[in-house]
Amino acid sequence: MAELIKDPFWWESAGRPQPVAEITLPEEVDVVVVGAGLTGLTAALFLAKGNKKVLVLDKTTPCLGASSRNGGMIGGGHRVSVDLLIQKYGQDLAARLLQEMHIDSTVFAKNLMTSENIDCDFQETGRFQAFWKKSDYESFASKLDQLRELIPVEADLISPADQRNEVASKAYHGGISYHLHGGINPAKWVYGIKNRALEQGVIIQGDTPVEELHYNAGVHTVKTPRGSVKAQDVLMATNGYTPSNFGDLSKRIFPIPSFIIVTETLGENRVRDLFPGLKMIVETRERHCYFRPSPDRKRIVFGGRAAMFKPPDNFFESQLRMLLAGIFPDLKNVGITHAWWGNTGFTFEMLPHVGKLNNVWHAMGYCGNGNGMAPWLGYKVANRILSNPEGETAFAEIEMPTKWYYNGVPWFLPFADVGFRFRDLYSNIQK
Ligand SMILES: Cc1cc2nc3c(=O)[nH]c(=O)nc-3n(C[C@H](O)[C@H](O)[C@H](O)COP(=O)(O)OP(=O)(O)OC[C@H]3O[C@@H](n4cnc5c(N)ncnc54)[C@H](O)[C@@H]3O)c2cc1C
Repeated sequence: MAELIKDPFWWESAGRPQPVAEITLPEEVDVVVVGAGLTGLTAALFLAKGNKKVLVLDKTTPCLGASSRNGGMIGGGHRVSVDLLIQKYGQDLAARLLQEMHIDSTVFAKNLMTSENIDCDFQETGRFQAFWKKSDYESFASKLDQLRELIPVEADLISPADQRNEVASKAYHGGISYHLHGGINPAKWVYGIKNRALEQGVIIQGDTPVEELHYNAGVHTVKTPRGSVKAQDVLMATNGYTPSNFGDLSKRIFPIPSFIIVTETLGENRVRDLFPGLKMIVETRERHCYFRPSPDRKRIVFGGRAAMFKPPDNFFESQLRMLLAGIFPDLKNVGITHAWWGNTGFTFEMLPHVGKLNNVWHAMGYCGNGNGMAPWLGYKVANRILSNPEGETAFAEIEMPTKWYYNGVPWFLPFADVGFRFRDLYSNIQK
């Protein structure tokens, strides 16, 4: 059996993240962006278009974070129910949050691909949200009605009888087909934005961790092992890789790993038999699986939260194999060629956020859904820094709360993991 490849499948066609040639760090810039992923690089691109001198620093090779290693599904979504959003924020703000999450961010990302000429194998396939429990059909039907009353989302409820036209699995009980969604090669997406930022004059330096930030008399001093840089503004775009020692910010975001495997080549016919709609699939199960045909439609890219902390590789690989076989029993003995993982960034209220804490800007908290939202909020935060009206966003109007028990070290995740395993068992009984 061939050895399992531990790098993201996407890098095979897009290439590995490449270092940028090292230069002497400038003494002073307008904006330092910390983190070279979709958020930081999009922000840098639009800041440079706004005539700012921008330095992007990353502690590893640029683009090596979640942005080049995710599942490659693009399209809106959220983890908070419409009810809860209305209850917490009122109808108007809830509608604006949903509009940005479900529609504006995806439209923005698609337009950016076109305007910046970024070829990232985008396929407008749609996404199918597969119901795990029988009772999901009724409850999600009414959630969809509620959503439609607030925003013009394009989606259809699919009955259990018609579900096999979307995904040929007995594990599900119908679902919702969302139209404005698709698949990309995420590595090509983030490399494309990085290249446009470089062309726009942004300085990007990898292997340069930002260790400390100091603010005095309107000027930031950004400390790195390669020296300090002064800046008028600093943007933290570190999402699931935010260090635990960045004060108030670290207390508001925590990493949850997500894991992916890829099957050996199954051939187009077999993939089409399993995915007749060729859509991106996400489940309603609490610790959900997300899976899709590869861009050439010959393999399956299969992701899930095998654990809420990083376990040994063979544990998450075997968990994902088991989950895959639970959905498609015929694939029980299929060969797996790739297995990798990365950090998503979660907030306590399960929503992304843009804003300023202690004079430092941030845009993060995509809760596993950043291919559209991260560029969108990168664009928004850039415009806020530029004081442009385009910076207006509902995500700057909500709090990014902390909890008394969290100081930047997510010690509670192994306990949450056990809790979620029990909830999974309970929802399996309800099936
Ligand atoms: C396995 C997996 C599957 C996913 N699937 C999907 C999907 O299918 N669809 C979807 O929409 N989203 C998905 N996501 C989420 C999506 O990838 C993220 O929301 C998005 O990439 C976040 O982009 P970002 O630029 O904010 O963060 P990242 O791309 O993670 O970049 C953060 C960067 O900050 C750097 N950094 C951290 N600390 C410092 C420091 N002190 N100094 C300098 N640099 C620092 C890191 O090195 C890193 O490069 C998935 C994520 C994972 C991990």
